[in-house]
Amino acid sequence: MELNEEELAVAESALRWARRELGPIADHIDQEDAFPPDLFTRLGDQGYLGAGIPVEYGGAGGDLMTAALVGWALARVSPAVALSYGGNVNLCAHNLLRNGTPEQKRRYLPGLAAGKLIGAMALTEPNAGSDATSIRTTAIRTAARPAGDGYILNGTKMFITNGPIADLIVVYAKTAPELGKKGISAFLVENGFAGFSVGQRLDKMGMRGSPTAELVFTDCEVPATNRLGPENEGLRVMMSGLDAERAYYSFTGVGLAEEAFALALRYATQREQFGAKISEFQLVQSKLAEMYARVEAARLLAIRAIRRTEAGGRASKEAAAAIFFAAETARFVTDQAVQIHGGYGYTKDYAVERFFRDAKLLEIGAGTQEIRRLVIAAELLGQRH
Ligand SMILES: Cc1cc2nc3c(=O)[nH]c(=O)nc-3n(C[C@H](O)[C@H](O)[C@H](O)COP(=O)(O)OP(=O)(O)OC[C@H]3O[C@@H](n4cnc5c(N)ncnc54)[C@H](O)[C@@H]3O)c2cc1C
Repeated sequence: MELNEEELAVAESALRWARRELGPIADHIDQEDAFPPDLFTRLGDQGYLGAGIPVEYGGAGGDLMTAALVGWALARVSPAVALSYGGNVNLCAHNLLRNGTPEQKRRYLPGLAAGKLIGAMALTEPNAGSDATSIRTTAIRTAARPAGDGYILNGTKMFITNGPIADLIVVYAKTAPELGKKGISAFLVENGFAGFSVGQRLDKMGMRGSPTAELVFTDCEVPATNRLGPENEGLRVMMSGLDAERAYYSFTGVGLAEEAFALALRYATQREQFGAKISEFQLVQSKLAEMYARVEAARLLAIRAIRRTEAGGRASKEAAAAIFFAAETARFVTDQAVQIHGGYGYTKDYAVERFFRDAKLLEIGAGTQEIRRLVIAAELLGQRH
């Protein structure tokens, strides 16, 4: 349940890097809603984008825990960067590693690991969020043509992290709409494929700087060699990805909450009112104690979720529980951190204001808090989907 020495070393070294490289620009990224153009290559140079990707595919080795700990470190400084990092590593590269052919892995993983290709994953649609298997994007197989066998994709995806800057997107579409959720397939779509375009870029409350957009597929031509996994087995690809995504992002929530807690603890020992440090007031101490307890518990659940997911097989309950609790902890702790900062916490002069806005996303993305409850309950009651 605890991190081992090697894992702690990864976390500490990534945190040093994040403080040095992102610390001076984290507020700017938020205020300008701008992702630094060279950041992916810098993350690649550090080996962070290759976390969990074997060396033979250009990765840095390690596992899902390695990537989650890098995400944790990034989230302590810039949760928005952690979100985009996860979009590349967890949602795109690791999915490709689990489900791709050797040829697909050779073609794309080295670029993703180096930050030369930016990855994303597109499942959500304007009318298919929580009800993800009701997606309407279609992928119709074309008969073998001179240009090669392939699929024509039509549809719109919504809320896609890294969407405006992505080079490679894992896209879910219906290859057999009449089969419902059993008629879904996954595809590797390059941003240069004819018929692909980036739609509206979204102006968000938090996680600003992590670019999010609508993606549009209009008779988009995708070669058959870019199908990810067998035809009509997209649901399995999707479900394996959801467990890993929830386990990964639970550590983002823990990092965000830990930082807000640390900032609140420091502020409480500096700010004076009524002739005493505010940390001497028991009502403030009560807040700090509860923040600490929740962060510690969230971290343990996150560690367990990653270990279960890595062990293979299904870890839906553990992953959903970990992100459910991490998200709630991040929201609670950032709220209390703003409260402890008083009026100053409500201004952009203090980072807790940014963390407070960023935390809310964790209760919505990767399945909402309500859907996570439903996933846990279904497993408890033996009603697996
Ligand atoms: C910043 C950001 C980044 C994202 N990144 C990605 C990405 O990279 N790729 C991607 O594919 N998607 C991404 N998403 C989409 C995200 O996964 C969805 O927003 C989420 O799944 C919820 O879908 P929705 O927004 O359509 O809400 P809805 O599904 O419409 O839900 C609205 C409300 O109804 C509740 N609700 C729905 N169904 C039920 C039910 N059965 N029981 C009880 N309550 C229910 C929900 O919990 C929620 O409170 C991102 C979203 C955001 C905001």
